[in-house]
Amino acid sequence: MMSTMSDTSALPDRMHAITDETRTTVDDVLQYARRRALYEDIPLDKPMRPSDLARLASGSITAAGIGDRRAIALFENVLAPACISTDHPGYLAFIPSAPTKASLAFDVVVSASAIYGGSWIEGAGAVYAENEVLAWLAGEFGMPDTAGGVFVQGGTIGNLSALVTARDAARRRNREAGVADPARWVVVCSAEAHSSIASAAAVMDIEIVAAAVDGDGRMHGDAVAAALDAHGGAVFAVVATGGTTNFGIVDDIASIAAVTAARDVWLHVDGAYGLAAMLVPEMRDAFAGVASADSVIVDPHKWLFAPFDACALIYRDPALALAAHTQKAEYLDTLTGKPDWNPSDLAVQLTRRARGLPLWFSLATHGTDAYRAGIRHGIDLARRIADDIAARPELSLVREPQLSVVVFRREGWTLADYEAWSDRLLDEQRAFVVPSSHAGEPVLRFAIISPLTTYELLVDILDSLD
Ligand SMILES: *Cc1c(COP(=O)(O)O)cnc(C)c1O
Repeated sequence: MMSTMSDTSALPDRMHAITDETRTTVDDVLQYARRRALYEDIPLDKPMRPSDLARLASGSITAAGIGDRRAIALFENVLAPACISTDHPGYLAFIPSAPTKASLAFDVVVSASAIYGGSWIEGAGAVYAENEVLAWLAGEFGMPDTAGGVFVQGGTIGNLSALVTARDAARRRNREAGVADPARWVVVCSAEAHSSIASAAAVMDIEIVAAAVDGDGRMHGDAVAAALDAHGGAVFAVVATGGTTNFGIVDDIASIAAVTAARDVWLHVDGAYGLAAMLVPEMRDAFAGVASADSVIVDPHKWLFAPFDACALIYRDPALALAAHTQKAEYLDTLTGKPDWNPSDLAVQLTRRARGLPLWFSLATHGTDAYRAGIRHGIDLARRIADDIAARPELSLVREPQLSVVVFRREGWTLADYEAWSDRLLDEQRAFVVPSSHAGEPVLRFAIISPLTTYELLVDILDSLD
């Protein structure tokens, strides 16, 4: 009886104490992390069927543990190769990820430091560094010095949090003016807006009104004005997209901002993928109007070369976010009203990883010029390969690329042809390119993020479409 009790109470000690065993485990894990981070040729890898994984990888959870070496070997040899490397230069599907070596190495430090990034009193140093990055981004976007925000998990949570703040602000204004809230709140965006806006609308139980777009898929101020005319006081926010996911098209934010300013409606800019391009001086004009947004998001895990997962959510007036999001409870009272704000209070979240630190470290290490150059690479490469596509008789561009997404078709191919080709490319471990669709037509799409993606690699992929 006594021995059972002492056995159980000894377990946490064995895992937490500094012993030869825990030292070896830390060393083994860091060595593996170092190997993976420094692969000369990143393997592309591919998914495995559940039954194959069950055969090769089951049985790792046992009462006594299998030891770190066996667990690492299982991960390195079976589990990791069943995950596609999103940082492979030939990963061109969806939106790839291309963390800098500095950022992914520092992500290990964030974990090793057990930092709580939700409050100033617990994570002041980390929050300060994150705020430095947010202030730099806000400055690049032309937002005022008073702007501020928080790194949240991803663009989906960033968009949701911004819209919750916008609706809260609209409700407050109605209350102060003695105006009744509408039966159902409305957000206006274009049909090309990201699926996360629809997801936010479902969570918030609000309506989406899609404003018309022009032939290039861009939403303009006149379409927004028409939507506002039709839905009046029910509209609490307009979402402009700073780089659509499918095409990289930037809405006419300047004309939209003029309308939202005149009507006093919240303007949110969803730049999860594309707003990073505003860091390239030649691209700034394409984003004119962002400076007057009430809130913006950009995902460092997309085109700012940070590891998963991070979205920078920035508000023109953070006080409105605090009012909407601060969780109130007796056990939290001690945290409120402390110097600066608590990052948790600006979004839908409480406990948070200091997920902005990998970007902070990499920016501090390399400087902002390297980021501008890295982003410019994707834009230049997209234009260059678009010219090649236009010059090939069997291929045609669906639209001229505006950022780093190139959408094109192979004449005469059906969806089944595209899928078979895509599967073969992955099987041969050459690239990961999946079909997308536009106006009901299956198309191919390159999303270029990694500075290691070369023109030669893309030409090689085009050649395989013969
Ligand atoms: C990727 C993306 C999102 C969603 O971001 P997650 O980080 O995947 O949640 C939102 N909007 C746009 C335009 C995107 O490209």
